[in-house]
Amino acid sequence: MDTSKQSAQGEQIAPELAEISLVLVETSHPGNIGSSARAAKTMGMRRLRLVAPKQFPHPDATALASGADDLLEQASRHDSLDEALADCGVAYACSARRRGIRLAELDPRQFASHALEQARKGPVAVVFGNERVGLSNEEIERCQFLVRIPSNPQFGSLNLAAAVQVLTFELRMAALDQVGRLKTEPDPRLPAPLAEMERMFEHLQQVLERIRFFGSRSPVRMMARLRRLLQRGLPDAHEVAILRGILSQIEYMLDHPGRDRKDDNAS
Ligand code: SAH
Repeated sequence: MDTSKQSAQGEQIAPELAEISLVLVETSHPGNIGSSARAAKTMGMRRLRLVAPKQFPHPDATALASGADDLLEQASRHDSLDEALADCGVAYACSARRRGIRLAELDPRQFASHALEQARKGPVAVVFGNERVGLSNEEIERCQFLVRIPSNPQFGSLNLAAAVQVLTFELRMAALDQVGRLKTEPDPRLPAPLAEMERMFEHLQQVLERIRFFGSRSPVRMMARLRRLLQRGLPDAHEVAILRGILSQIEYMLDHPGRDRKDDNAS
């Protein structure tokens, strides 16, 4: 089987597929990394990002990749999810369970067309959790959307590579669906890189602490709500810079009560 031709064909169908990275967080079994690589490559995808894998590289990973070992060789490795997502504009958290922190939830089909559209603008991440514990709330909060495969409610957790297969299949179907259709002009705004969003959230929390906004409320829960609000709009870098500017001005006014920044500039 000529797999190189297959992947080349995948890229021809939808170059956007190559912009979508699959992020595997703290995978326990190296075999699952290999099976996920195979699942991804069959659907024309190429990018894997591994966050703190328990054992990698490993012969089981190579064996189960069964010809997709090029994806394993090219996979990037990261110490933290933040690091893995730093350059991405949009991240989708895949979870079998609905969580307390409610992100906008997409089914696999809605996810696929949304992610493909976003991938026309830049890097996009699809995040999968550890086999035993899945993704933590903190990890899910780093993402803007939750993707749930609507499986059997009594037995809903798929094997990691099976979940990768279902979601990459949907991406491929969405890509095939676009072929021959007049593509709509994409929205030219690029979502701000997630690293910038994180800096903005840190800054926001600092300022809210300084103005004693949290009071008796839990900063963790309030920040989770504010994250959800601000992430929903997929702000671009310029909009994030405006928010940072507002926060800096609040800090300035606290440090220099009664003085206008304009007065300073004039003097
Ligand atoms: N026991 C874990 C599931 C781990 S399965 C839990 O209950 O959360 C490993 C990963 O596969 C999950 O973290 C998730 O990213 C993905 N996955 C499994 N089933 C899924 C489903 N029904 N919908 C979306 N993602 C799923």
